Amino acid sequence: MNAFSLQNGQMHCEAVPLSAIAERFGTPCYVYSRAALESALDEYQQPLAEVDALVCYAVKANSNLALLKVFAQRGAGFDIVSLGELKRALAAGADPQKIVFSGVGKSAAEMAFALSTGILCFNVESAPELERLNEVAGSLGKRAPISLRVNPDVDAKTHPYISTGLKENKFGVAYEDAVSVYTQASRLANLEIVGIDCHIGSQLLDPAPFAEALTKLLQLIDQLAAKGITLRHIDLGGGLGIRYKDETEPTVKSYLQPLLASLKERGLKIVLEPGRRLVGNAGVLLTRIEFLKPGAVKNFAIVDAAMNDLARPALYDAWHDILAVAPRSGAALHWDVVGPICESGDFLGRDRALALAPGDLLAVMSAGAYGMAMSSNYNTRPRAAEVMVDGTQMQLVRRRETIEELYALESLLP
Ligand SMILES: *Cc1c(COP(=O)(O)O)cnc(C)c1O
Repeated sequence: MNAFSLQNGQMHCEAVPLSAIAERFGTPCYVYSRAALESALDEYQQPLAEVDALVCYAVKANSNLALLKVFAQRGAGFDIVSLGELKRALAAGADPQKIVFSGVGKSAAEMAFALSTGILCFNVESAPELERLNEVAGSLGKRAPISLRVNPDVDAKTHPYISTGLKENKFGVAYEDAVSVYTQASRLANLEIVGIDCHIGSQLLDPAPFAEALTKLLQLIDQLAAKGITLRHIDLGGGLGIRYKDETEPTVKSYLQPLLASLKERGLKIVLEPGRRLVGNAGVLLTRIEFLKPGAVKNFAIVDAAMNDLARPALYDAWHDILAVAPRSGAALHWDVVGPICESGDFLGRDRALALAPGDLLAVMSAGAYGMAMSSNYNTRPRAAEVMVDGTQMQLVRRRETIEELYALESLLP
């Protein structure tokens, strides 16, 4: 669904004009649509209703508590990568039995806390991690449920920074080594093998690599069964892409159907870890133009949001549509939309045809995923506020930081 639309010449989120949000809470500000979050989760849960399945939202895409609670209330589980994300998920009301713990560098303390809460599964990424987890579980008198993240070596054909399923990536256990690492795990007394997982990359627009990865994992599952190692679930990770510009967004159904077809009759529970797809198009970054700076070579629109608020353009050269909240009828010029940070890489969009005036509001679209979650305080800038819209209601779900808070943890030399 598209929760952001023009109504009477004014962009709204559901039934709330973005200008009203800017007035009440200031800019820069992230705005999320509750209906869009729920509908994105529904797109996954409906085709899976007939099978044993669990959708574990990847918290790293956007970890706001209110957003996590929306998903928890609708039965979602969570894919977490740190103690911090685990505590957030629990604070938002997550069921520990629906939490999977991913990540290449889990500390003993993180393992111990996750074991004490009774999570569904540790997605283990290396042999030494197995050894550590076995020790920690033993010291607590527990058995740790584990899955091995296997690297199926398929080319997801996405940006190198977000491709994770190739041999040269740091993630997971090499496909060729998987059987021997599972065998090693089966000999460790404090581990219980429950699953297998993979995550081949992010922003994938072609469902084919997912099916390819599944085929490879199923072959592995058969090899393991021959050795007496049986699994309860298969976790295919996240990675389904969204429309940022003019991409054709694969439907969730077209992605799930081939997977469901080959999983039928296997009696395996299916776990998925979508991040971006659940939140990306449910949020925008709302920003106001400070100055217009037309020039001989380039025109700059300097706005109050910057790369510290939304890093994706600077980091991946990612495209986000930038739309006027109240479009003007005048002639459009081409603008580089840039922030106030002292870096040439501080841009939100380049060469955008817009009719602008100082003080106008702009919406940076598709900013719900890896937006606020990757924000920083670079240049001692307070991070943006976050607002959740539900129908005609708007609610502040994270207030803007104060400047004093930004250095409150620091101390002067005596
Ligand atoms: C990042 C990540 C996800 C979510 O990826 P999206 O592309 O946002 O769907 C899922 N699983 C793991 C292990 C990840 O690292």
